[in-house]
Amino acid sequence: MRPELPPTAGLPIAWADFFARPARPFTEGLGSWLDLPDPLPASSGTAALTVALQTLRHRLPERREVIIPAYTCPLVALAVGSVPGLRLLACDLLPRSIDLDPDKLEALCTERTLAVVPTHLGGRVADVEAARRIAARSGALVIEDAAQALGALAHGRSVGLNGDIGFFSLAAGKGLTTYEGGLLFSRRSDLRADLAARAAATLRPRPLLSLRRVLELLGYAFFYTPARLWYVYGRQLRLALKAGDELAAVGDVFSPADIRLHSLDGLRLRVAANALERLPGYLDQGRIRAAGRLALLRGLDGVVALTDKSGFSGIWPFFMLILPDKEARDRVLRQLWPAGVGVSKLFARALPDYDFLASFARNPLDCPQARALADRMLTVTNTHWLDDETFSLILDQIRRSL
Ligand SMILES: *Cc1c(COP(=O)(O)O)cnc(C)c1O
Repeated sequence: MRPELPPTAGLPIAWADFFARPARPFTEGLGSWLDLPDPLPASSGTAALTVALQTLRHRLPERREVIIPAYTCPLVALAVGSVPGLRLLACDLLPRSIDLDPDKLEALCTERTLAVVPTHLGGRVADVEAARRIAARSGALVIEDAAQALGALAHGRSVGLNGDIGFFSLAAGKGLTTYEGGLLFSRRSDLRADLAARAAATLRPRPLLSLRRVLELLGYAFFYTPARLWYVYGRQLRLALKAGDELAAVGDVFSPADIRLHSLDGLRLRVAANALERLPGYLDQGRIRAAGRLALLRGLDGVVALTDKSGFSGIWPFFMLILPDKEARDRVLRQLWPAGVGVSKLFARALPDYDFLASFARNPLDCPQARALADRMLTVTNTHWLDDETFSLILDQIRRSL
């Protein structure tokens, strides 16, 4: 057994976070840091999205289609599938980008479109403005999926505030965590009232489930360190890789039963409120680390590291690297995925290629760029535990695999 680095830069939770009286309540602290009006806590990012979809479904009952990126978290597709009457359309991305392809989006957007979901994948800031322009032409709304981007800014403003509705995830591995949790918000006061009413009706307390999450969060506080992560992450990862079960290795296997709608308990909100005090500084350190390492990653010929366009300042849980072809990517992963150095895959497949989603996606499965990401992308952690020496070993291995 050896040190195991996490694949993302999650903020460690301290024991004191469970006990100390926070300087201010979580939603208040978050609201004032990011200038979010009245963010609503939820049991998960998926739950936040589900409440958003239910709310819009009710407001615009004649619109039934939701357009999401063809490369994203499968839970997003399950959330759409969980709202009766809604249908999912997967939209391809631009080449080597997390942005929806405007031409394809244009072709998919009609008077049937309820919402478009541009996604700030991996902390990068997506082009919400372009999606909004296209959506607006057909009267559709925009939900920004900022699950992986809490703290990311677009022109100095938090992501999630450019579209009609935004949400963050507080799942383990996504920066600030309550083990499972999410936040729903909107810059539009008319929508906020509806969202709050819907959330109050849908997200009821589930004491036993919350107790389980509290115990899981205690486990996270204890195990989330390189000396212990092997027990709860590295061991299963290697077993899955050995068995050739890539979906289990990524943690991409979900079913509709994984969508649990309930409220976030007070104890975990307290932990989040305390941890939040450290988050801005932690994210800034991550940005500094990322800037230095991106300069080195640029030296890899033929490898594209995804970055932000000017005016955008994302967060850096990990680097998304696109290799020249699938073979080179797989050579790197064969060496480094089981090595415990924080090299991984984001999502195993393009959405339409998950068997358990086949019945949801209705459009012709034309998504070559999403498939290219699934085939050619790998992630390198930006955790503060990754030292320069290990990072240059990773660089060497990638160079040799090209
Ligand atoms: C994780 C994730 C979600 C869902 O968030 P949960 O809190 O895990 O339910 C949605 N979208 C993206 C892009 C994600 O990475």
